[in-house]
Amino acid sequence: MGNVNIIIDGKKVRVREGSTILEAAEAGGITIPTFCNIKGLLPTGVCRVCVVEVQGSKTLVGSCHTPATEGMLVFTRTPRVVATRKVIVELMLTGHSGDCVNDPNAENCKLHNLASDYEVGAPRFNVKTPRFYPAEESNPYVRRDLSKCILCRKCVKACQDLARKNVLSIGYRGFRSKVVSGFDEALTTEACRDCLICIEHCPTGALAKPVQIRV
Ligand code: SF4
Repeated sequence: MGNVNIIIDGKKVRVREGSTILEAAEAGGITIPTFCNIKGLLPTGVCRVCVVEVQGSKTLVGSCHTPATEGMLVFTRTPRVVATRKVIVELMLTGHSGDCVNDPNAENCKLHNLASDYEVGAPRFNVKTPRFYPAEESNPYVRRDLSKCILCRKCVKACQDLARKNVLSIGYRGFRSKVVSGFDEALTTEACRDCLICIEHCPTGALAKPVQIRV
């Protein structure tokens, strides 16, 4: 397999053929935000926050699943890209309830960090069916607060493809979609013990270590 040369934000980057734009940007030291991508695993392209402009393309493309091709011209921070990311973040904030500023389980909420970087304030959208779930504390290893979940599916992918445990999946449809264990059962210690890989990958604090086992 050969290499391809592309230009991202004016910078020449050479990557292996088959690399995505996101991987090429990383290789070139250019940061593109993403919530759903896990390095080394196949992309899911669900969060859309990694969109970029490619010369010749009428629409923005997801950088995590679009292959870099020879001579491609990519722009990662044009006004159109920034405006689109802001709306995506705002939509995510609409379904992400809870006070991350005061909640010790959400001290590293990447959604709020990105909202701050892009100067996205309180969301303007109203949801007819607000997604509220009480926090679950029954598992001694994982605390679930799905009101903070943005359905990026990273935990599901990490559980299935990295830990190879298949404990988590997405259940229901539309506004009722949520991360479930089994047939939407409590996260028992029989199903889920202490690999903690879902917590490591969750960008929002929806999955976190219970306070007593934090180190
Ligand atoms: S629990 Fe976390 S990692 Fe899983 S889908 Fe929700 S936000 Fe993403």
